[in-house]
Amino acid sequence: MSQELRVRAQRLRGTRDEGRGTIKSAISLSSIVHRPSSLPVRQAGIVPACPAGRHRPSFFTVYLLFAIYCLLRFADTATAQEWKEIKGEHFIVYSTGNDRFSKDVLWNAEKYYSRIADDLGYPRYSEFWQWENRVKIYIYQDQVSYVNSHNFPQWSYGMAIYNKKEICTYMGSADFIGAILPHEITHLMFRDFVGLGWNIPLWLDEGVAQRQEPKKRNIITKAIKQIYSKNEIIPLENFFKVDIRNEKDEKIVRSYYIQAMSIIDFLIRKYGSDNFIHFCRNLRDGKNIEEALAFAYPTSIRSLSDLEERWRKYIKQI
Ligand SMILES: [Zn+2]
Repeated sequence: MSQELRVRAQRLRGTRDEGRGTIKSAISLSSIVHRPSSLPVRQAGIVPACPAGRHRPSFFTVYLLFAIYCLLRFADTATAQEWKEIKGEHFIVYSTGNDRFSKDVLWNAEKYYSRIADDLGYPRYSEFWQWENRVKIYIYQDQVSYVNSHNFPQWSYGMAIYNKKEICTYMGSADFIGAILPHEITHLMFRDFVGLGWNIPLWLDEGVAQRQEPKKRNIITKAIKQIYSKNEIIPLENFFKVDIRNEKDEKIVRSYYIQAMSIIDFLIRKYGSDNFIHFCRNLRDGKNIEEALAFAYPTSIRSLSDLEERWRKYIKQI
């Protein structure tokens, strides 16, 4: 077994649920079912945990246990040997074939990294995500192996495991390079840079990530103008309170995400990345939305109504 896969198998054992309600690529880590071959022999109940000398296993039992142990090791090693790796400055791509797809993924991942760093004011020349801190991208041979690897949902094209800084997909996955990759890289960078942990408001987490998907970025302006002209804007007082995960009406869900992207777009374009990150960190430190705004934008946005008024004016102008 390669060192890399051994470390990975070890980490898999400690995974727990940190699932979030994302649209396309949410991951509920509670749904991860560990592969039997990744369980330590003792955990799997094969080796008796009784103190030595209390009873002695028969020769046949010892032989059987040893045979099972060898089989598990062999299965793990066989899987591990299939991975090939390509290293970039901030990412390592693991795949089992098709070098061209892996190289495309790596090239695009590095390109997105620079663009997102510029946009969020992330210190791209610092040592973040370099050397042993690089993000690992696993490309499985096909969708079945990808789904089985972590019990990912059948409908997904790619998933991130945030606490391990890993992104998983499969060869030729539709929309992975154009949408899922930038989306998940943004989630990872945003958490690292802002230090938000797991308590990020959904509108902020998803709004920031979706805004970095090239296709969605191009439609924000058009879509928000449409919603505005149809008078379908959710007033901000309700917007920041609503839990969209309970909403069944697809139209409202769509409006919610477009509105989230537009508010973030407005704050970054109008007042810059530094103030935006300051605002996010205020939220991280426990301030409510109005306090967070007032501390980050003391001369321009001191309340929700200030934000709503300026944002609506901005929509009219774009
Ligand atoms: Zn997401």
